[in-house]
Amino acid sequence: MKGLKTERINNNLNELNTSIQYVKGVGPKVAKILRKKGIEKVEDALYFLPRAYEDRRQIKKIAELEVEKKQTICGKILFLEVSRRRQRKLFTMVVGDESGTVTAKWFHFNHPYMSNRHKIGQRIILSGEVKSFNYRLEFHHPDLELVTDEEDLTKDNLNFGRVVPIYSEPDGLYQKSLRRIMWNAVEKFADCLSTGIPYDIRQRYNLLELSEAARRAHFPSDKDDINQYLTRHSQAQRTLIFDEFFFLELSLALRRRSVVSEEGYSFEIKHDYTERLREMLPFQLTGAQQRVLKEIEGDMNSPHPMHRLLQGDVGSGKTIVALMAALIAVDNGYQVAIMAPTEILAEQHFYRLNNWAKALGVKTTLLTSSISKKDKSGIYQGIKSGEIDLVVGTHAIIQEGVDFHRLGLGIIDEQHRFGVLQRAELKRKGANPDVLVMTATPIPRTLAMTVYGDLDVSVIDELPPGRAPVKTRVYWESRRARVYEIVRQEVSKGSQAYIVYPLVEESEKVDLKDATRMAGYLQNEVFPELNIGLIHGRMKGEDKVKVMQDFKDRRIDILVATTVIEVGIDVINATVMVVENAERFGLSQLHQLRGRVRRGTQDAICLLLAKYLRDEDSQRRLRIMEETDDGFRIAEEDLAIRGPGEFLGTRQSGLPDFRVANIIRDADVLSQARKEAFNLIREHPDLELPEYQALMAVLKHRQEGRLELATIG
Ligand code: ADP
Ligand code: MG
Repeated sequence: MKGLKTERINNNLNELNTSIQYVKGVGPKVAKILRKKGIEKVEDALYFLPRAYEDRRQIKKIAELEVEKKQTICGKILFLEVSRRRQRKLFTMVVGDESGTVTAKWFHFNHPYMSNRHKIGQRIILSGEVKSFNYRLEFHHPDLELVTDEEDLTKDNLNFGRVVPIYSEPDGLYQKSLRRIMWNAVEKFADCLSTGIPYDIRQRYNLLELSEAARRAHFPSDKDDINQYLTRHSQAQRTLIFDEFFFLELSLALRRRSVVSEEGYSFEIKHDYTERLREMLPFQLTGAQQRVLKEIEGDMNSPHPMHRLLQGDVGSGKTIVALMAALIAVDNGYQVAIMAPTEILAEQHFYRLNNWAKALGVKTTLLTSSISKKDKSGIYQGIKSGEIDLVVGTHAIIQEGVDFHRLGLGIIDEQHRFGVLQRAELKRKGANPDVLVMTATPIPRTLAMTVYGDLDVSVIDELPPGRAPVKTRVYWESRRARVYEIVRQEVSKGSQAYIVYPLVEESEKVDLKDATRMAGYLQNEVFPELNIGLIHGRMKGEDKVKVMQDFKDRRIDILVATTVIEVGIDVINATVMVVENAERFGLSQLHQLRGRVRRGTQDAICLLLAKYLRDEDSQRRLRIMEETDDGFRIAEEDLAIRGPGEFLGTRQSGLPDFRVANIIRDADVLSQARKEAFNLIREHPDLELPEYQALMAVLKHRQEGRLELATIG
């Protein structure tokens, strides 16, 4: 019985892979157009949901239109005009039916398209909110659709007399044709969809059958509430969203389970080194640091590999926690690798850790790609023989040729700059070592549940005592002189300052020129009495170290820097930061940057110089930096404004392409799906029961498709 059912499901899933060309109405030409929208297979079409819906259950007479309601009318075009009013073009159309006339206006439009497509005398449908203007009713930017004279609105039950889907149109395919194609695809193939999500879970969240959900998400039934569809709260859409999240979370849960059930090292929690380190530190660990360390020790002690994310706001003291963890592994006779995304950060880590490590007798080395071949072979040798305990470096650590004697723990700093692949590669350098990943800035909860969803999470939610928030102010470009004045005052009081230029990867050279030119200008024209230094990522390692040393020793008052200083630089006396082109940075990045001046207990200031921005959104965005110092809140705002792709900044970040779900908009559904998927795996770790065969078949199908990236590692 069960076997038969699974076979049917598998057949159906295979059907979903049918090329879109086999859907009625799609020839080779249309197939090519659809491909531009990512629709190659039938399944892609089923998940290509409408961007909006129009209520055409009722076509109103123009005379019956009411103000401030969404309504649909049908009539003939009586008048068309493109005019110009104060620099701005305006497209006007008057439409009439037997009861009266109404004007439609477009303030932004594609001129040739609008003019060529519409002719006087044509029949047309307009749909949108009706406004009152000079006592007359108007549509502004309504949706429109041409209708031929032959079309009988009362007989066509696809485009009229129903809630109609509006799709995002690819060039070269009109709404109506697209709608017909989608209808055909749904009619013929929606039944091939099956979810496999256990019945009790579907019950709990009031989910529909997947096929029914797809059908209604495209073509809502007559009784459906269109507002729920527009806000994506309908049962049909929520079913699809839940389903998409569920399978992502299920694969994360399985991955987590497979990691934690593997055999790994069980470290004895000795405190030989860590106690000695504690005595050397000029401060006590905060409560949060101690708690997190306990969590890490628990993992390291367990016979399964650690797989943990360490989160904390900038300056919360993640590094020292990481070092403590490293020392436990070393105490047990194992090696540790700490991998950072940039050379400058790796160097910074190395010099900082090495002081302590040396005093403890822990042998440490730096490994980056700019180290000479000759030195490298010596280092490789030391790593292979086990003579070196702690390797700090960049991705050079995971290159071929680097063989560890006994790698017990891998630590990845600033994980968001690496992809999931690098995490896996580091792991492969040992026999199932423990892995601890750290993030530079807090990760919003939704991302923690997706991109990092297979990791256990520790949060340092407390800053070392006495850290005052960085006083932050936004200055528009026109007040640059004032900004320089403040810097001068602060330096004369004994502080040092950073002036930071954005470094956008593609335009690295341009920015470098900016920073270099600016350093010269500041030295010669603005601060002739002070010493200006310059540091950027293209400099040789030793030159960078020299500049940093000069800055530390106060031979430099103002350090002009590209964003290489974003991470890891520690100069206690530098309490002023100016960020140029602040409007070009993400909020989390700005927060991370200003963290560089929140190192001591002195009051620190951060001045954000930005091009004056007209639009309120960008202004509000920068104001958040003035308002709050809470990295978690800033991260949430940043994510909401820029979206997950840009927030994470790397293509390989491991965030899957969602087809219907949106982690920001649907965060509540994400939590539910995660809870259920993880519960299910906890109770039935291998999904071995026959009743889960369907679920496994669907999971496999999904993983062959979009989930791929999320399941590596
Ligand atoms: P981040 O979490 O941003 O990586 P770091 O680990 O670089 O933070 O720590 C920031 C600074 O705070 C460092 O100078 C570090 O020595 C110091 N620090 C860390 N823990 C404490 C503590 N418990 N008390 C006081 N200072 C601390
Ligand atoms: Mg750090």
